[in-house]
Amino acid sequence: MSGSEAFDVVVIGAGPAGYPAAIRAAQNKLKVACVDEWKNTDGTAAFGGTCLNAGCIPSKALLESSELYWRAREEFAHHGIGVGQVKLDLATMQRRRAGIVKTMTGGIAALFKSAGVTGIHGHGRLLPGNRVEVSGGMGATRVLEARHVVIASGSSPIRLPSMPHDGKLIIDSWNALELDAVPRRLGVIGAGVIGLELGSVWRRLGSEVTVLEALPQLLPMADQAIAREAQRHFKKLGLDIRLGAKVQSASVTGGAVSVVYTDASGEHRLELDKLVVAVGRRPFTEGLLAEGTGVKVDGRGFVEVDEHCRTGVPNVWAVGDVVRGPMLAHKGKEEGIMVADLIAGRYGEVNYRAIPSVIYTAPEIAWVGLTEEQVKASGRPYKVGSFPFAANGRARALEAAQGMAKMVSAADDDEILGVHIIGPFAGELIAEAVLALEYSASSEDLQRTMHAHPTLSEALHEAALAVDKRAIDSINR
Ligand code: FAD
Ligand code: NAD
Repeated sequence: MSGSEAFDVVVIGAGPAGYPAAIRAAQNKLKVACVDEWKNTDGTAAFGGTCLNAGCIPSKALLESSELYWRAREEFAHHGIGVGQVKLDLATMQRRRAGIVKTMTGGIAALFKSAGVTGIHGHGRLLPGNRVEVSGGMGATRVLEARHVVIASGSSPIRLPSMPHDGKLIIDSWNALELDAVPRRLGVIGAGVIGLELGSVWRRLGSEVTVLEALPQLLPMADQAIAREAQRHFKKLGLDIRLGAKVQSASVTGGAVSVVYTDASGEHRLELDKLVVAVGRRPFTEGLLAEGTGVKVDGRGFVEVDEHCRTGVPNVWAVGDVVRGPMLAHKGKEEGIMVADLIAGRYGEVNYRAIPSVIYTAPEIAWVGLTEEQVKASGRPYKVGSFPFAANGRARALEAAQGMAKMVSAADDDEILGVHIIGPFAGELIAEAVLALEYSASSEDLQRTMHAHPTLSEALHEAALAVDKRAIDSINR
């Protein structure tokens, strides 16, 4: 083992929670190291964590390519564009995906360099006394002395023994992003965000996709008006989503996957060419905590923290997927920035009531704040306004006049409590609603805000007007 080196801050993990923490700490004039052990399938090390290497970015690359392929086949003729027979070149599509990932992860190394962060590839283990042992990288095992440690070790897919992962036929989301051929029959276990996004990708590229979901309801965390609308669109796409289908087991025989599941009508068997298991992710803390660090992990494996991401051990913090809250890149990023500012003695806070959720299907689904069902259950009197994209000129021009924008506000002081959108670019449109919640805006604030015409954002404006039955471009009910 070589001698020890001293840093103000050592971050373990360079995903979307860890790398912003490292960069902000360096911006705060602290001496920072960020240790990450990620290895890609070709054995190369890369910063960026799950999100950049195997999650958000590659999935969005494929969602875009597959959507274009689908639209070229299904929609171009409607615009009066003839393209002949549309052909799929999956190898090029996958090269593009890999190229985007490489550029983005390389970008983090460049950001570290320019911010003065020491990026280290290797496994980090927290030792008692705020020291971090780094092993398995290029050089010998070394120990970093740290005034502060930020744990940002992320999450990994949940593996179920009854569906043994082999990486070829029974696969996880990372494998499903890197397939080199379109499976004829693709099964997905779990109609969560991954199941719906990856199911959409391979359905558009030609697979027969069956999604098995244990719960009786689709998207229970979403506003149910939006979930019902989404279900209609998924059906139109040809996604065969079977609700109330509890998968018992999956096994590989003769080059195919056999899945046994039960629903209200009994036991069923399904034969598939590939099966994606997307039943959630769990916090990743393997080999992370040496004996005696004092950092507590709860019954589900999450590192315990308070609302400022303090672990309870002085100067040890934890952020991102490894702690409570939604497993979203932007939530981790804000936690990382907050912690780096608190360490530097600055102000830092995360508003957990204004975390946007986006599902990048077509149409996109996005929301922030409370659903109508949650507001109703809280007993607070409320008002609702919604506006269909069918009445929005830009959506019509885009040939994407599907879905709606919906706003829920308090009946007493008109504060916006939740905004729910299903429709074109919902993930972009939701940013205005996040800002509205951040500033405790009322629906009247949005009603009085000018929105450019013709834009999709007018749907949100009209939904705000509809809250008080003053919509102009649709009939108020
Ligand atoms: P991670 O991104 O998991 O990064 C943790 C890093 O720490 C990894 O590089 C890991 O190798 C490293 N590490 C772990 N332990 C150690 C150790 N002991 N020593 C050194 N390094 C260590 N979220 C969104 O917000 N939007 C999306 O569109 C989206 N799409 C997704 C699509 C898919 C297919 C998947 C799987 C996830 C998606 N997510 C999305 C979720 C998002 O990827 C995670 O919420 C996010 O990556 C969490 O960030 P993190 O930094 O906490 O952890
Ligand atoms: P998830 O928790 O969203 O969904 C898992 C689904 O699997 C649930 O609906 C669950 O009921 C179902 N399930 C569990 N066991 C089952 C069984 N035996 N049979 C049938 N169904 C079963 O998890 P995920 O889709 O794996 O995603 C993991 C995380 O990644 C999520 O927290 C999500 O926030 C994040 N993610 C986010 C995005 C995004 O923001 N666009 C995209 C992908 C992933």
